[in-house]
Parts: sequence; C-alpha cells; structure tokens
Amino acid sequence: MFKNDFASLARPAILPDASNRQGLPAFASVGDVLNAYEGDDAIFVLYPKKIAAAARTFLNGFPGTVLYAVKANPHPAVIKTLWTSGIRNFDVASTREVDLVRSIAPHAKLFLMHPVKSRATIRQAYEAGVRDFSFDSAEELQKMLEETGYAPDLTFHLRLALPKGNAAMPLSGKFGADRATAIELLKAARPHVAQLGVTFHVGSQCLDVEDYGRALSWVRSIVDDADVEIDSVDCGGGFPVAYPGMSHKPMGNYFAAIRTALRENGFDGLQILGEPGRALCAQGGSTLTRVELRKGADLYINDGSYGSLFDAAQCAWKFPVKLHRATPRIAEANEPFRFFGPTCDSLDVMEGPFELPGDIAEGDWIEVCHLGAYGQALSSRFNGFYSETTVAVMA
Ligand SMILES: *Cc1c(COP(=O)(O)O)cnc(C)c1O
Repeated sequence: MFKNDFASLARPAILPDASNRQGLPAFASVGDVLNAYEGDDAIFVLYPKKIAAAARTFLNGFPGTVLYAVKANPHPAVIKTLWTSGIRNFDVASTREVDLVRSIAPHAKLFLMHPVKSRATIRQAYEAGVRDFSFDSAEELQKMLEETGYAPDLTFHLRLALPKGNAAMPLSGKFGADRATAIELLKAARPHVAQLGVTFHVGSQCLDVEDYGRALSWVRSIVDDADVEIDSVDCGGGFPVAYPGMSHKPMGNYFAAIRTALRENGFDGLQILGEPGRALCAQGGSTLTRVELRKGADLYINDGSYGSLFDAAQCAWKFPVKLHRATPRIAEANEPFRFFGPTCDSLDVMEGPFELPGDIAEGDWIEVCHLGAYGQALSSRFNGFYSETTVAVMA
C-alpha cells in the first residue's frame, strides 16, 4: 500500500530506535506517511514515544503497581511498547487477551479482572498461569473456586460498585457489588484464597481527582464492616486525557490524591494496584481520514462510528483534529464542521463540531487525535469500510 518499501522511506536514524521494535512501517512524520500512501482507506497512526512517555508518567508517579488495561488498545505494537517501557502487569478480560499478551510478553503478570467469566475462561487462564481474578457475586466466587480446583495460590479481587462520581463514562452500572453484598462476599472469600483484594473503577475519563479519595473511603468503611483482612487495593482505571471541552488537573494531582487517601484510610502497608487504559495510550494514537466529499459544513470522510470514531458518534465526544494536505497552502480561519462516516447507516455521524480550516476540500486529510484508546480498538468491518494500515510515527 506504500509507494516503496517503507523501510527505505523512513529516515535511517529512526529505524534502529529501541522504541520501534514493533515491526510497523515507521515514518518521521505524518506528512511522510501521506506522501508514501497509495491506499484508499483510513490509516491508524501509533506514536510509540508518546505511549512510552505515558508509561513513564505512571511508573514514576502512581503509588503502586501499574497494570495496563488491554481493552483500551490491544494492538501488539502497543503491548510491546508498554512492555519495553517497563509495564510488567496487564489487566485482561478474555482468553484471547490472555493469549495475546502471552504471545508478546511471555513473562508479563496477567490479572483477569472481568467479574463475569465463562468456566472455560477461568480454567484456561489458570492453566496459562493467571492467579488474579475479580468477582462481584457469590455465584462467580463459586465458579472461580471450582474451576481452579480450590488452588492454594489464588488472589481474588472483589469488585465494588461505587456511588455516582464525576466520570464522563460511569462504569458501576453493570459490575460491582453493593455495600451489603460486598461485606458478605469478603467474608465468604477470605477462607479460600491466599490473598484477598478489593477493586473498583471510578468510571472512565474521571474529571474529578477527589473521586479516587471518596472511593478509597468507601472501601475502608466496607472492609471495616466486614471485619476481614485484605491484602491489596486496586484503584482501577479512569485516569483522564485532555479532549476539547474537558478539563482536568494534571496526572500528578491524581497520584497525590490517591497517595493521601491511601494513607488516611490506613492502606499504606497493602499492595496497591492501578489499571490505566485510556491514559496510557489515547495520546499515542490517531486516525488519518480523508475527505471524500464536502457539502457545506458537512464532511464525508472514510472513517466513522463503525471505524475508530465510535465515541465521537455515540457519545458526541470531541477529539482534537488537524488538517494535513498534499500541497500545503495557507489555510483559512477555522470553521465548525460535522463528519459523516463512510457506511450507509445514518447513525454514522459525528456531530462535533470539529474546528477545521474553512477551505477544507475533497482529498484533504484530517488527523483525528487521541484515538489510541477506544478508537482503533473499536473498529469494525461493517459495510466493507475499514483500515488495515497501521503505521508508527516516531515523533
Ligand atoms: C476498562 C477498564 C479499565 C481501564 O479504564 P480506563 O478508563 O481506560 O483507564 C480498567 N479496569 C477495568 C476493570 C476496566 O474494565
């Protein structure tokens, strides 16, 4: 799909870079990608250096062990980059995610943190070396004990439902034990497991640092009422990224708030875990999509809600956008645009508004940024429109 062998296009200084061992076509800039591209589909871009930088932020600042939530972006290059950057622990949900991480990072420690698993998934994960599992019901606790043969080396993490917080996407509606159930489950699980932990998720894209402190007080009061020893507290994911129209405090404030709340609630001596997904890879990926037609303020583009723009469509989420055009010319002032995706479904619309130069036209490319999490990962093949091209840009 590229004009020449991509290796010959990338600058020689770029290829030996230790952070690009993913085997992706590597380029110095988006401009170089577009100059070389001859395909007709959208292009997914990964920025391994940005993913590595996000990993360093967490490894240096988060007051505990950092697990990468693989669902945010399971691309092998993302997993490899995170492993190379020092992430050793992965939060997985399915047998396929177990196999995927194992195939790329055989020595990684895997945590199966889905509170509802098939019996075969539990069995296969245990056989693959997984010892950490989450649950939120007595039935699942029973399943996990039966399928692992009451093994002596298990760590079970009880998933709590949280009172409503300030996340853009709440995640306590589907999973999590309420207070009374949680107290019973802690008592029920304790005699059977080597280690017992509590886990929660404040909701994805959490815009209020205090939500983590409130969650940790909630954990404390439940553990006290259960009167059971716990070994670990998992603060989940939810760490935010800067999308247009959403502001949040720097990541350091989140880490400081968690550190303070851990101390105030007496969790200092326990094993502390965190499961960032979005914050590790959102800024490390974008989609290059081409304008096929313009009708006034509506741009018909070759990626959409069934591609990597699901959240832009279904949640009216705004993403940063940049214009790239083949022959650079001075762009007009920005105007608001709406996007239509390539499929024939009328749900395939991204309202935005997305601010782009007023003279944008057919053939121009738009880089939709921050799609490294829950963008590329959600892409389907509906209606025959999809991208099979992922490149690394070493910027
Ligand atoms: C999705 C998910 C995460 C990651 O959440 P982010 O908001 O992307 O950080 C972490 N843990 C669990 C259990 C999840 O389901």
